[in-house]
Amino acid sequence: MMLAAELALARVDVAIVERRANQDLVGARAGGLHSRTIEVLDQRGIADRFLTEGKVMQLAGFAMNPLDISDFPTRHNYGLALRQEGIERILAAWVDELTVPIHREREVTDFSQDDTGVDVELSDGRTLRAKYLVGCDGGRSLIRKKAGIDFPGWDPSTSYLIAEAEMTGEPEWGMRRDDKGFHGLAKLEDGKRVRMVSSEQHVRRGDEPTLGDLREALVAVYGTDYGVHNVTYLSRFTDMARQAASYRERRVLLAGDAAHVHSPAGGQGLNIGVQDAVNLGWKLAQVVNGTSPESLLDTYQAERHPIGARVLKTSMAQTALNRGDDRTAALRETMSELLEMDEPRKRYAAMMSGLDIHYDLGTGHPLLGRRMPDLELVTESGPRRVFTLLHDARPVLLNLGEPGTLDIAPWAGRVQRVDARYAGVWELPVLGAVAAPTAVLIRPDGHVAWVGDGTDHGLRDALTTWFGPPAVLRQSR
Ligand SMILES: Cc1cc2nc3c(=O)[nH]c(=O)nc-3n(C[C@H](O)[C@H](O)[C@H](O)COP(=O)(O)OP(=O)(O)OC[C@H]3O[C@@H](n4cnc5c(N)ncnc54)[C@H](O)[C@@H]3O)c2cc1C
Repeated sequence: MMLAAELALARVDVAIVERRANQDLVGARAGGLHSRTIEVLDQRGIADRFLTEGKVMQLAGFAMNPLDISDFPTRHNYGLALRQEGIERILAAWVDELTVPIHREREVTDFSQDDTGVDVELSDGRTLRAKYLVGCDGGRSLIRKKAGIDFPGWDPSTSYLIAEAEMTGEPEWGMRRDDKGFHGLAKLEDGKRVRMVSSEQHVRRGDEPTLGDLREALVAVYGTDYGVHNVTYLSRFTDMARQAASYRERRVLLAGDAAHVHSPAGGQGLNIGVQDAVNLGWKLAQVVNGTSPESLLDTYQAERHPIGARVLKTSMAQTALNRGDDRTAALRETMSELLEMDEPRKRYAAMMSGLDIHYDLGTGHPLLGRRMPDLELVTESGPRRVFTLLHDARPVLLNLGEPGTLDIAPWAGRVQRVDARYAGVWELPVLGAVAAPTAVLIRPDGHVAWVGDGTDHGLRDALTTWFGPPAVLRQSR
């Protein structure tokens, strides 16, 4: 949905095919948004829709060590507790406003691609013709499999049951660790039902466990099943970690869980999926609209694959730290001590909240490749926040030097030039204060593509790389 919205903002003719009838989602999946995801939504002017529905709180953590980001230089120096169902509903309403058609209760069953497009076969017998197809179809992605994209990684080392149910007995609330992993019992919002997560004694697969499996898991850990009954949700997840070897096979791309799966430790999956979409959307739009060559799509893989790989690594590390044996407990304690120190806390907090993402766009000013901070600017038309300039998902050349300088006429139809003043400090998470630039070229995803040092050195190259070759201007007579 995030990708469809990004494409729609760029006036691309886009459609979603979705097996589900609506956004109803039984049981728990993602529990919230990290800071960078909230920023990304703020860049599109929709963060408030999420903030009013959820609960602002410190959410980031590593191996159950809370990582406070309240001292970080961002407007959203927190996370947002909001269940995936709520997140999906808000996104669905936005996609609806942008008039993106959703073909619901239909499945993609197959596709074939040629030099000019992709024929997508649907379960209702119809075929859709598209220039590109993006598989946002989850961890078991049919599109990934049919495209022949490998999904290498690690088989599960542990499996967990997750359930919502009632209990006749009063359970032992809270967390418990043993040599199999962790187990937790918590009251649900209605005060009646219980949410439980429990590592199983043996690794099991298949996400349709039985009530018998749940009872067995409870007895193995607590010695009783607490009279568990009226189970409204029961599922299984594992710490399997796999990542698509390639995020693109000609006209077929992957995003979200279709591109990477891992344990929920650290709460990263939905967050990086949304950020994949925001990285890909404007690039795909420019290729579809013919302003950029297809090679721009290679930067999607180059930028996002390392982020997915890092999340696989940190989720595997966290699963390992969750083991209940004495040596792991000692290691966990050591890790906790480290994360209480300021510098490690800042680095890990920036990583887990997505605020440290740095795409490799070459050497130079620290802003290059990093997220543009949401500064309070003074423009000709009054005070403006940087993020409001990105609402339309169009690139911005922010000129903080002499107004009217930096000629970008050959890109004028594609890049907005904004003359502005900013007198405050430039501060980045973890890095702290950085030298004030005289101009910045900001991509639609909020990452800085070029930094001015008082000259326009490198600007034309950056504009060409990211927003296509210059338009040929007609000479006025
Ligand atoms: C227990 C648990 C806890 C989690 N906690 C967190 C957390 O705290 N934070 C976090 O960020 N993430 C968390 N996650 C991960 C998060 O749920 C996923 O990363 C996220 O849902 C991925 O989104 P997606 O759109 O890529 O894939 P999905 O959510 O799987 O969506 C794929 C969609 O494609 C549709 N589809 C599939 N195949 C087809 C087809 N052939 N044709 C048509 N439609 C199709 C499906 O119906 C589905 O709606 C958790 C996951 C689990 C299991």
